[in-house]
Amino acid sequence: MNRPVIVVHGGAGAFRESMWEACLAGCRQAALAGWERLRAGGAALDAVEAAVQVLEDDPAFDAGRGSFLNMAGVVQMDAIIMDGRTLDLGAVAAVERIRHPITLARRVMERSPHNFIVGPGAMAFAEQEGISFCDPDELQGVHVLEDSATAPGMDTVGAVAVDLAGNFAVATSTGGTPGKWPGRVGDSPLVGAGAYADNRCGAASATGEGEKLMRLVISKTACDRLAAGIPAPQVAAEVIRLLHTRVGGHGGLILVDREGRVGLAHNTQSMPHAYVLPRGEGPLETTLVVAMEARLY
Ligand code: ASP
Repeated sequence: MNRPVIVVHGGAGAFRESMWEACLAGCRQAALAGWERLRAGGAALDAVEAAVQVLEDDPAFDAGRGSFLNMAGVVQMDAIIMDGRTLDLGAVAAVERIRHPITLARRVMERSPHNFIVGPGAMAFAEQEGISFCDPDELQGVHVLEDSATAPGMDTVGAVAVDLAGNFAVATSTGGTPGKWPGRVGDSPLVGAGAYADNRCGAASATGEGEKLMRLVISKTACDRLAAGIPAPQVAAEVIRLLHTRVGGHGGLILVDREGRVGLAHNTQSMPHAYVLPRGEGPLETTLVVAMEARLY
C-alpha cells in the first residue's frame, strides 16, 4: 500500500493581491477534489483530471474559464494528461470553446489512436466524442478585463498525484500567454515539457515562460533527477535554478516522488498551490497545505 499524495498549482507569476484569496481557495478546492478520489482508492489519473477540471472552471486561473485572449481576441487552450503506469498520454493544443480541455486530452489518450491532436482537428474529435462546445465569452476570465499592463503574467494550472496502488499521473492545462500569436503553443501540452509522469520515478507539472521551459524539457529533466534518487524538494529547487541559469527563464514546478515527497519551486513572485497527504499512518488523518509561495530563488 502506498501513501497517496496530490499536489496542484495555479501557475507561476505575479498575481495581483486582490486575486490571492480566490487563487488559494481555488487551489484548495482542486486539491481536495483530487484527494477525495485518492482517499476512496481511485486512480491518480482520475484525481489529476478532477483537480484540473476544478481549476479550469475557476475564472481566477488561465485555463478553461479564465483563459487569456490571444492577439486576435480569441481563447485558445492547450492541455496534456499522462499516465505514469503505461507512459500513455493525451494532449490537445489551440482548441477553442471547450470547457474542459483536460477531459478532451484524456479522450485523445483513451479513445483515439493518437497522442496529440491540435486546432480544428482536435475540435472535430471533441464533436465526435459528444463533448459540447461553450460560448467563447464563457471562457474569458476576470483578469483579462483588467488593464493588461497590470495583469498577472501567467497562471496555467496543473496537478500531480500518486494513488494507493503506487500509480503516478499528471495533468496540465492552460490558456497560454496573454496576447500570444494565434496558434502559438507553449510548453504546457508538450510531453516532457509541461508534464511528465513515470511510475519508475514520479510526476512533474511545469508552469511559466513556455518558450524557455520547453528548451529544457523541464518536466522530463526533473523526472530524470528523481529517477537518480534525488528527493523531490531538492530536484524542484535545482531544476528551477537551472531554468534561470541556462535559459534565463521564469517559472515553477510541482513534483511528487516515489517516497511521496512533494517538491515545489518557482523563481516568480508567486505560485499558488495546495497539496494533501496522509499524516502518520491513519488514512483519515491528512495534512492540507495551501500557499501562494513556495521556496524562492
Ligand atoms: N507555460 C504556459 C505557456 O507558456 C504559461 C503558464 O505557465 O502560465 O503557455
